Amino acid sequence: MDIQLEKISEKEAKTKPDQNSLGFGRHFTDHMLVMPYTEGKGWHDLTIQPYRNFSLDPAAMVLHYGQAIFEGMKAYRGKDGGIYLFRPADNIERMNISAARLCMPQLPVDEVLVALKELLRLDEDWIPTAKGATLYIRPTMIATEAALGVRPAKQYLFFVILSPVGAYYPEGFNPVKIYVTDKYVRAVPGGVGHIKTAGNYAASIMAAVEAQQAGFTQVLWLDAVERRYIEEVGTMNIFFVIGDEIVTPPLGGSILPGITRDSVIQVAKGWGLNVVERRITIDEVLAAQENGSLKEIFGTGTAAVISPVGSLHYKGQDCLINNGETGALSQRLFDEIQAIQYGAKEDPYGWVI
Ligand code: PMP
Repeated sequence: MDIQLEKISEKEAKTKPDQNSLGFGRHFTDHMLVMPYTEGKGWHDLTIQPYRNFSLDPAAMVLHYGQAIFEGMKAYRGKDGGIYLFRPADNIERMNISAARLCMPQLPVDEVLVALKELLRLDEDWIPTAKGATLYIRPTMIATEAALGVRPAKQYLFFVILSPVGAYYPEGFNPVKIYVTDKYVRAVPGGVGHIKTAGNYAASIMAAVEAQQAGFTQVLWLDAVERRYIEEVGTMNIFFVIGDEIVTPPLGGSILPGITRDSVIQVAKGWGLNVVERRITIDEVLAAQENGSLKEIFGTGTAAVISPVGSLHYKGQDCLINNGETGALSQRLFDEIQAIQYGAKEDPYGWVI
């Protein structure tokens, strides 16, 4: 597929934001990638064009029935000036798993990656150079057909927008206070918890708001059936260091297969550490804290890479983890994976492009 290119004119170029106060997802670059899909015709008119509003019919099916999926990945500016991507094909392949679950069309992975690289080259001046700052990449697919009635749409739009974001930890790690909810669930067996669809995030907001109102940063999600098995933390996967085991809940159910989760498992195994994917209950974690074998808890995700958990609040009780401090493994994994992402370290896994 040829890529059509419509560049901004010089006077349309936006003023770039101050690199030291980027925040997250507040600024967007000059260009975006768009590619419509029409049943019978497939994907067509792959275009890089100026970042601008869409025109959508009010009956567009995404607005009513929520056929919407997205991804989150980053471009990093290496010390050598190069642009680095971390496992980008894995994100597009995960998007195809999301698409299949919602009866949306499959993306051509290779062509999307070629077009993404073109977009990044065009907007490369937007990739921040400040330490830890990155260009966040948001691929999205929505149902655009104008029709009411619940069924797969016949028209879709795939688009990619770019947002320069600040360092997640400008002042070093900050272990977070977590509220364990047994009132709300994120996902159910047989549902859509294993894919990145917009509705999952809409459904999670109330639990997060209530946790934040009570003074916590995020929610720890338990399974929907027994409300005992730990699934995820906020929008991250979760790991526990108990004795000499690193435990993380297994995939295959209502958990998103995080690319950082997989990277952490591979790096830790490569160091000879004992990583176990098994179900783990909140009671087991609290008992391990009681008997002194719980060493660290951390979340993993693209945004922060590693997010140490400082405390858990469950059924009215507070439980301090590792004295509220960042654990040694959290720090080591963060340093290692971040170094690979920025091309500052040899990448024995072939993750970096
Ligand atoms: N779980 C959920 C629900 C998420 O939204 C994310 C972010 N994509 C993750 C886990 C972490 O996934 P990744 O490591 O691929 O960013």
